[in-house]
Amino acid sequence: HGPVIAVDGPAAAGKGTLAKKLAQELGLPYLDTGLLYRAVARLALDAGQDPSGPAENFAEHLTQQDMARKDLRTPDVAQAASKVAAQPAVRQALVETQRRFAAERGAVLDGRDIGTAIFPNADVKLFITASPATRALRRYMQMQGNPAAPDAGEKLAEMEATLKARDAADSSRAAAPLQVAADAKVIETDHLSAEAVLALALAYTRE
Ligand code: C5P
Repeated sequence: HGPVIAVDGPAAAGKGTLAKKLAQELGLPYLDTGLLYRAVARLALDAGQDPSGPAENFAEHLTQQDMARKDLRTPDVAQAASKVAAQPAVRQALVETQRRFAAERGAVLDGRDIGTAIFPNADVKLFITASPATRALRRYMQMQGNPAAPDAGEKLAEMEATLKARDAADSSRAAAPLQVAADAKVIETDHLSAEAVLALALAYTRE
């Protein structure tokens, strides 16, 4: 089977941007695993359920359609995703889906626990990070350019506080917390362009 490349890191660090380009460059399928948790959260919210309450039922019956919804990238869904993602039963229900995705041709997957829990033997593990201020600013600039974005009106300081709170929750949960795998290459992107991050990631991949 093909190579598995794990791209982990905190919220809004540029994991998606990098993972997508890396997949394109290497001819591998790409999976944004955050969408799995976002889709589960969306279903829980639609059912009128508190996302902290048991949500494995939604994770067990997740469909392609649930993942293709356009309303998964809102701040409310991100918050709720972090809550359902803290539930061991929800995570368990999504393990096989992620492993199967890479089974044939390999894959680039981005998330929080790809190199630590889903693919502890991944061929390449990258941990993409930047300071909370940088991450908030990048997200803020994206929103400025897109007045239709769900959180376009949010203030920079609010965005930074929200990102930090979500990272803290993701890092402190008992089930597969956000952490750097011992054998991961850490890429600190504060002072790097997207092109430079890709070049570095490709260099690590070819090592
Ligand atoms: O990456 P994204 O912001 O879409 O992820 C939303 C939430 O889903 C994260 O804050 C995290 O709680 C959860 N998640 C996770 N494990 C992954 C991917 C996402 O716990 N592999």
